[in-house]
Amino acid sequence: MRRINPSAFKVAKRGTSREINRQITLNLIRVKQPISRAELARMMGMRRGAVTLLINELIEGGLVREGAKGQSRRGRRPQHLYIDSRKRCVVAVDIRASRTFVMVADLLGHPQLNVTSVPSERDPRRLVDELVGRVGQMLREHPEVGECQGWGIAVPGILERDGGRVLNAPTLGWRDVDLGGLLAKATTQPIFMENSCKACALGQVWAVREDVPVDGTLVFVSVSDGVGVGIVIDGRLVRGAHNIAGEFGHVSLNAEGPRCSCGANGCWEAYISNLATLTRYLGRERAGPIYTEALTVEDIIGCARAGDARALDALETTWAGGWL
Ligand SMILES: [Zn+2]
Repeated sequence: MRRINPSAFKVAKRGTSREINRQITLNLIRVKQPISRAELARMMGMRRGAVTLLINELIEGGLVREGAKGQSRRGRRPQHLYIDSRKRCVVAVDIRASRTFVMVADLLGHPQLNVTSVPSERDPRRLVDELVGRVGQMLREHPEVGECQGWGIAVPGILERDGGRVLNAPTLGWRDVDLGGLLAKATTQPIFMENSCKACALGQVWAVREDVPVDGTLVFVSVSDGVGVGIVIDGRLVRGAHNIAGEFGHVSLNAEGPRCSCGANGCWEAYISNLATLTRYLGRERAGPIYTEALTVEDIIGCARAGDARALDALETTWAGGWL
């Protein structure tokens, strides 16, 4: 028997099992497409008629479409099923301390337009205005990508568990910023927000790695302008009681260490983030992390390849200093 919390539980309602089967069907089509109704029925161990009912609903709802007919040794050729990603797109936004990146993808996450970026305004209202303007322009200029179904936004900070507030994002200098509210006012499309490192871990499980079992374990260490960790156990993202599981970037390794964006000294992030490498290269560790449009970590890698000893030293301390 599985133990339940007697003060917080959800009983199965009429339609619960149907909703579960709907999710299973959608997932199977997403992973196996093109796939026929007969193959789905076989994989799900269900009667063909029950699967046909589910598929009809998904087709009516515009989530699944029928494509070309497949091969059959005898009898009718099966009609292949696909997730219907035609004429619909989603917007992916990755907010980082230095720049904010925007991508338009189809419903399966395949990029439809080139990634573009804008400087990350520290004023959240200005950043939202800039993003809404830029995305609107992209969608107007490329009507072929179809109607936007929603935005997914990766934020480098601690987010409210339910809701759109950014509780703390040190590299942006944000504390208790209602980013979700600002975006909801500025757009009519649904907004989904996630901590950057958690989003990276989910991205690996859903779209990138095929060697992670669906119910497996994965730890993703993100070294970008900031540093954080996304943890997946038994196929589920670990959030922790306050949605801060994996927030190891601001664990202090040395109280005498370099200044961090959070105000403390010697955080893990202050040793290994891209901004830490940049700051080390510029010899300004005592003053705290530096954001500059003029120099990126890619520039430092380029300098190191060209034989610049200071660049090489800054990178070697990041990678070989024992912190990462
Ligand atoms: Zn810190």
